[in-house]
Amino acid sequence: MKVGFIGLGNMGAPMAGNLARAGHEVTGFDLAAPCPEGVSPAASAAEAAAGRDVVITMLPNGAILRSVAAEVLPIMDKGAVLLDCSTVDVESARAVAAEAETAGIMAVDAPVSGGVGGAAAGTLTFMAGGSEAAFEKVRPLFDVMGQKAVHCGASGAGQAAKICNNMILGATMIVTCEAFALADKLGLDRKKMFDVVSTSSGYSWTMNAYCPAPGVGPQSPADNGYKPGFAAELMLKDLRLSQQAAEAADADTPMGARAAELYAAFVEDEDGKGKDFSAMLPRFEKRGRG
Ligand code: NAD
Repeated sequence: MKVGFIGLGNMGAPMAGNLARAGHEVTGFDLAAPCPEGVSPAASAAEAAAGRDVVITMLPNGAILRSVAAEVLPIMDKGAVLLDCSTVDVESARAVAAEAETAGIMAVDAPVSGGVGGAAAGTLTFMAGGSEAAFEKVRPLFDVMGQKAVHCGASGAGQAAKICNNMILGATMIVTCEAFALADKLGLDRKKMFDVVSTSSGYSWTMNAYCPAPGVGPQSPADNGYKPGFAAELMLKDLRLSQQAAEAADADTPMGARAAELYAAFVEDEDGKGKDFSAMLPRFEKRGRG
């Protein structure tokens, strides 16, 4: 396929590179980052989008997505697909899909799980919102960039799935970290704690696969000085998106709200910026109840 790729940062560059290696004709544009090998550079987003079957965006937020969409939708061929893989607010995803429809373009919101490692290895999970026809058209690209793509429903459903998943992830990471810090203070050995919880009803992905305590579970950022991994500030971004969505939908999400507050304090008032989101454990280690 002829693919335009806009946003060639930590995630976009390896994703675009994988598409080019798989034989797709990829043209890329980024305001700052260079094109990866095999991707032809365009001088603007509009140039990257013109005459393409699919235009992929991998951008920092919803406001930037909306401005890029306003630039490329009038240029794109009728029947082409705008495939946004960024994590953005549900409202921006739906607004861009509505504008696309008016312009005769199909739109899919398909945020990803799997991080930079998954982007490089082509093992991302895509959660997609949009029409069946649009999903089927971009499926071959999902197959190259990822290992799984779930069609979650209409436009915005992909972003809804992503922020609900990450709200669970953020809250679960916090409680896993505070439980380790409590166990320390109760004199419980961390390895014993891991052995019990990872095979008991407190088990979770954060405990079993991404343990925040170094040296007791499978390799995780905790074993690498809490270098991300998944940065605390990205977790904060996703938790804020979940709270923005909860506000708009009038949903009561007290654990998500508290998780957003704790990550905000960690990133903005403490020393969490630039650290993995599991570095909440050393944060709790240092604290008492006061
Ligand atoms: P990044 O900051 O590394 O990349 C974003 C790129 O967009 C940058 O290179 C920037 O120059 C470019 N950009 C900004 N405005 C632009 C514009 N108007 N036109 C063209 N390019 C523009 O971010 P990333 O880590 O690649 O993340 C991208 C998206 O993926 C985000 O929405 C993020 O939440 C999501 N995400 C990231 C991860 C991760 O682990 N990094 C995991 C899952 C989802």
